[in-house]
Amino acid sequence: MKSIEFLNKDVSILKGIGSKTSSILKKKNINKVSDILLDFPRATVDNITNCKIKELQIGKNHTINIIPKKYSFPRIRNLPFKVICEDETGEIDCVFFNSYEKYIRKILPINISVNITGTVNYYKKKYQIVNPKVTSLNQNQTTIIESKYSLTEGLKQSNYNRIINNVLSKLPDLDEWLSEEVLKKFNNVSWKDSILKIHKASNIVPYNSNYYRRLAYDEILATFLISSQVRKKINKVKKKIKKFNLTKCNDVISSLNYKLTNDQIYTLSEINKDISSEYKMFRLLQGDVGSGKTIVSLLSALNVTEAGYQVAFMAPTEILANQHYNLAKKLLGKYLSIELITGHTTNQFKKKIQEKINNKEIDLVIGTHSLFQKKMFFNNLGLIIIDEQHKFGVKQRKALSDKGGSNCDVLLLSATPIPRTLMMTIYGDMNVSIINQKPKNRKEVITYSKSEKKINEILSFANKQIKNNNQIFWVCPLIEESKKVDHESAIKKYEFLKKKFKDNVDIIHGLIKEENREIILKKFLKNKIKILVSTTVIEVGIDFPNASLIIIENANKFGLSQLHQLRGRVGRGTDQSYCVLIFKNNLSENAKKRIKILKETTDGFKISNEDMKLRGYGDILGFKQSGVKNFKLADPILHEDLFELAQKEISRIENSDDDLTRYKTLVKLFDHAEIINDLV
Ligand code: ADP
Ligand code: MG
Repeated sequence: MKSIEFLNKDVSILKGIGSKTSSILKKKNINKVSDILLDFPRATVDNITNCKIKELQIGKNHTINIIPKKYSFPRIRNLPFKVICEDETGEIDCVFFNSYEKYIRKILPINISVNITGTVNYYKKKYQIVNPKVTSLNQNQTTIIESKYSLTEGLKQSNYNRIINNVLSKLPDLDEWLSEEVLKKFNNVSWKDSILKIHKASNIVPYNSNYYRRLAYDEILATFLISSQVRKKINKVKKKIKKFNLTKCNDVISSLNYKLTNDQIYTLSEINKDISSEYKMFRLLQGDVGSGKTIVSLLSALNVTEAGYQVAFMAPTEILANQHYNLAKKLLGKYLSIELITGHTTNQFKKKIQEKINNKEIDLVIGTHSLFQKKMFFNNLGLIIIDEQHKFGVKQRKALSDKGGSNCDVLLLSATPIPRTLMMTIYGDMNVSIINQKPKNRKEVITYSKSEKKINEILSFANKQIKNNNQIFWVCPLIEESKKVDHESAIKKYEFLKKKFKDNVDIIHGLIKEENREIILKKFLKNKIKILVSTTVIEVGIDFPNASLIIIENANKFGLSQLHQLRGRVGRGTDQSYCVLIFKNNLSENAKKRIKILKETTDGFKISNEDMKLRGYGDILGFKQSGVKNFKLADPILHEDLFELAQKEISRIENSDDDLTRYKTLVKLFDHAEIINDLV
């Protein structure tokens, strides 16, 4: 059977699957027959074998070879039994709750090398595995023999195995889609062989085998193909050419009190080229915090209005929308009619703005989401700009790009640097312009970490900054996953600081009314307040060139990328800026690593790479919401080379006239059928 149709059918067509089982499988996210095939026996995906204690990754499932050295069997109730084990690189504790001494002595005999499997934790400065499984006493064998599938309640192992075996026996021989050259890299193993091997093997096939890697590569390639096709399709949308001359743009540039960086000039020219082309623009402008994306986007807006179109500029928060509005007024007010719409704009005023839009009396509208969600109609929209857009995924972006109509260009701004391996995964559907350079006059922010016990030192450092006429952000994080507690901790800190710094301190948080927040921020901008205590509302985009110190409490509650974003709030002026990370005692190993990285570099791309390694790619700032597909098999950390290979292959495919139909099966296998149908 050559057909893939069978694999794309709903699982309910399989023998032995009634409505009950089928609904259980759906809970496991198994809908199509091919989903069953990609549901590999447990322990393949996450299980890392063959590494030393020193290299263990916290939170991951590991199989390691160790030598038990010492028992600890406390006689106190509720205290666990412990076996201290080692290899040549370090120590690890095997911890057993509710277990028997005799059993432990049997499975972990002193001084005899053993393989154990389990999730690695870090507790009291030591690695540990709770209730490890001993996999074999044979020193040479480092893979586990256990081919269990992770099961949802109500589904028996034996039943599920029967279902899988049934599907495996009907696997079609599919025509190869990989190119000869790529296939060679996996020792020519076919898709079918790989699937069979992985499900039927008595030893679980490790993630670095050719079988596993081939399938992981298939998954990556399928994902990239989709994005590439989406991009191609968007790039083909024709529009009316926008004609403008650059006189006003150049006037604004020369009125600035700084010189644009080369990267700013270059990205602006890329955007101008897109805008004046006969194809619709769908471009991402990516640049680290403070790299100066706003001015580039405002100049693009000016050019589009020069061509006789209206522009909509959307920001993620009201504060940021306000700041953009003020900047636009200042720089472009002379040439353009500009309005602001936020959630707080009264309906009456909105109506007025709507009228003006209809009469083409407005050129540029800046606002929050309400710009697009409410019933706003644009007369002649030529460009949509979306700032800090990392919350949108491929599908939303496509919807957005459709919204403005075919004559409307789309420019997205993002300050979230992402690891190079993920670029194509996340932004493959767009053309990307990157600002790498920071403005010249910037000094790197110096980062310190301090225990919260050293609060007096921190206060006197803050005092010194204030004496130098500089300003300070004091950030209190989410302590619990609750907004309320969040605000309380900020308020407490505010009251504490108020005693010391009197009227020099103010606070903003989510519960303070928008109008009042505005007033406070304006006061801060005018340097009438020295310390601004806040929750993470200051995280995105706001620009305060006079702030030279950011103090972040409970810094271990933030991820690396988020700390990097927060740190980016300072260091925008010409003075030396500082970031102080305050920690409670007892830092975990992971937290220590994070501080080290932050101290070492201010390069957002490097930081996001490290963040990915520490937390896994799914947790990097914003990805969870981004709708980016979670890979089932591929792992950007373990398979970095495959991501690079796929990227090269995509470029090759894009620049050749390869017949894309050969990839149709592949794409269908990976669940993108609904998007790809009209594409390939
Ligand atoms: P982001 O890219 O994070 O959105 P902004 O556009 O807010 O950064 O710019 C940050 C600050 O840098 C602003 O105060 C802006 O005026 C300033 N800036 C932008 N470009 C330059 C430049 N070429 N030289 C000096 N300062 C600049
Ligand atoms: Mg910005």
